[in-house]
Amino acid sequence: MGAVMQPLSSFRRVTIKVGSSLLVDHDAQDVRRDWLAGLVSDLAELHRGGADILVVSSGAIALGRSVLGLPRGPLKLEDSQAAAAVGQIALARIWAEMLHRHGIVAGQILVTLGDTEERRRYLNARATIGRLLERRAVPVINENDTVATSEIRYGDNDRLAARVAAMVGSDLLVLLSDVDGFYTAPPAANPDAKLMPVVERITPEIEAMAGDAGSELSRGGMRTKIEAAKIATQGGTRMVIASGLVAHPLKVIAKGGRCTWFATPSTPARARKTWIAGSLETKGAVTIDSGAVAALKRGKSLLPAGILRVEGTFTRGDAIAVRGPDGTEVARGLTAYDADDAVRIAGRSSADILSILGFGGRTEMIHRDDLVLAGSVRSISSN
Ligand code: GLU
Repeated sequence: MGAVMQPLSSFRRVTIKVGSSLLVDHDAQDVRRDWLAGLVSDLAELHRGGADILVVSSGAIALGRSVLGLPRGPLKLEDSQAAAAVGQIALARIWAEMLHRHGIVAGQILVTLGDTEERRRYLNARATIGRLLERRAVPVINENDTVATSEIRYGDNDRLAARVAAMVGSDLLVLLSDVDGFYTAPPAANPDAKLMPVVERITPEIEAMAGDAGSELSRGGMRTKIEAAKIATQGGTRMVIASGLVAHPLKVIAKGGRCTWFATPSTPARARKTWIAGSLETKGAVTIDSGAVAALKRGKSLLPAGILRVEGTFTRGDAIAVRGPDGTEVARGLTAYDADDAVRIAGRSSADILSILGFGGRTEMIHRDDLVLAGSVRSISSN
């Protein structure tokens, strides 16, 4: 595996975009439940491993149109708005049910273009999603198609997913649809087209290769996927285009199946470190033993075992100071646990977290990607 391709379990915040043609059986006009159950079990596994999961799900219009008896083919705007109003209820319910089977809570977020483009609304949407993630819920996001008119809509969930992924600092975005990767030319029109396993940079040549493909149920063709890749990779989010036409699509990616990885020049981790180093307000502090100080200096994460004392009232995701045994600040970082829980796991082995807290969280108190040594942004390597 090259540097761009990494085990999925190494990503800490993963956004998955699921296309309409995967979710909805075109002929039966119903949800493909078995397939979705397989995908959700893949997601649940990543979630159990400590990753934050966001879902961007299409399918509202596809599910609602048959219920309303609307014809096949492109819909007028008011018909797609009406179809979405009906279909979104079913869509949210199915995700909630499927996630619930794994003990995961779902939260529905419907966004319009302005929610990701206007600063005040952007911050608002980001805060809501952030809060859901802190509580270990999975936001299930779609465009608010019922009120989105042509001037104020994305119209495709590829770009929407990329904006959301960049907005929340996802380190990975997976676009699942009926195409299995990015080709040197549109494969339907060109039998010599070859799948590119890795796209290092989105050059004008790459953009020219994208062509203009799309299927009836899903709006996004390769063009919107390349636009999505630009948005995502500029924000430090790596992106994968993979086929969802297989059972357990994330397992297939993890095993090195056909797909395309888009590299990013930055990482959310790097962006996060700069932000942590610059954020003045810490909500609390932990004092750690000298062994843990030495480990941090070697670029390791802070484990609960090294914590001697916890001060302040902070919640998961807050910036806290890390002090050595003599009280001097050695680092600061974003805590993976609330203060109350930190008190309970301090000095204990990570393996005991589940039995102490009654829920399994991250093995680290502060992950190394979320940690900055005092006086430096660069001294702890990021991936
Ligand atoms: N938001 C649309 C829906 O839920 C789908 C857009 C897309 O397919 O990209 O039906």
